[in-house]
Amino acid sequence: MKTLILAEHNGIELNPTVLQSVTAAQFWEAPIEIFVVGSNINAVAQQAASIVGVSRILQIDAEHLAPQLAEDVAELIASIGVEYQVILSTHSSYSRNILPRAAALLDVDVISDALEIHADNTYVRAIYSGNVNATIQSKDAIQILTVHGNNFVAANSNNSQVEIAKIAVQATQYQSRWVSEARFESARPALSSAKVVVSGGGSLGSAAGFDHLLSPLADKLGAALGASRAAIEAGFASSDILVGQSGIVVAPDLYIAVGISGAIQHTHGMKDSKVIVAINQDPDAPIFQVADYWLVGDLFKVVPELTATLQ
Ligand SMILES: Cc1cc2nc3c(=O)[nH]c(=O)nc-3n(C[C@H](O)[C@H](O)[C@H](O)COP(=O)(O)OP(=O)(O)OC[C@H]3O[C@@H](n4cnc5c(N)ncnc54)[C@H](O)[C@@H]3O)c2cc1C
Repeated sequence: MKTLILAEHNGIELNPTVLQSVTAAQFWEAPIEIFVVGSNINAVAQQAASIVGVSRILQIDAEHLAPQLAEDVAELIASIGVEYQVILSTHSSYSRNILPRAAALLDVDVISDALEIHADNTYVRAIYSGNVNATIQSKDAIQILTVHGNNFVAANSNNSQVEIAKIAVQATQYQSRWVSEARFESARPALSSAKVVVSGGGSLGSAAGFDHLLSPLADKLGAALGASRAAIEAGFASSDILVGQSGIVVAPDLYIAVGISGAIQHTHGMKDSKVIVAINQDPDAPIFQVADYWLVGDLFKVVPELTATLQ
């Protein structure tokens, strides 16, 4: 049997987490194929074909697939799913949207955000916001799962190219259709892969306060901006930078939490960061329990001082 990786991409390039999926897929010691769906995606398929350890690329390229609607992609996966022992992707809103639908169509379970793979059907995954790790087993003939990307070393790419099989498909007519898309453009690194993240909480007081206080610090550090749910619910930041169990899980080299209490739903999304710095005026704030360095003080005073100190 074979392993299939659902490749996340933006139509121009592969998401780097595909490399982590390849390492996870190598556990099964079976041929690994990568499934690339979209429109005008020759370059993406070629990028996938250069990943070491992959045996074949399945490219489904059609105009109606440009937005990669979950209904379309799940149906395509289900149509070939029985050929595979394992279908996986790294855990993200993209894979979370598609793989459960494919699993339902194939009438199997989906295992979400596997931290470790212990046997060909046994996984460790976090429950209760990361406070407990559960070992779970699936008896399904097809294992469909998402893996926790940061727990798997990225596979390498080289100059060789494996076979790219192009599969033709008919346009589909589902009740959902793509209407429009609004992209958040930023010169900053992507939150999920940034080496440094500066995150702010509801205590920043306003959208302007969030921006004026955190942006200069993030700019000096070349950091991505993140936010707690309180900051997002108050409208200080866009929901696509939510860090935590309902948002993005990050593990940068440096995570700076500014005025964030440290609720478990937030720490679930950042506690694997290499170095955690927390700034909070409450000496008993829970964030200090996961912090390597902390500063008890008023963020409106200490953040500008810290920013000014940095070259
Ligand atoms: C199902 C569910 C899922 C959730 N998912 C997420 C998630 O993914 N991500 C997430 O972040 N939250 C999530 N939450 C919400 C979470 O429980 C917390 O409510 C949220 O993280 C709190 O955000 P906060 O720390 O910014 O705000 P608060 O809890 O209000 O804390 C503000 C902190 O700022 C400090 N502070 C205040 N003023 C200053 C100052 N001047 N200087 C320095 N420090 C100051 C305070 O001491 C306090 O510690 C979820 C909740 C639920 C129920």
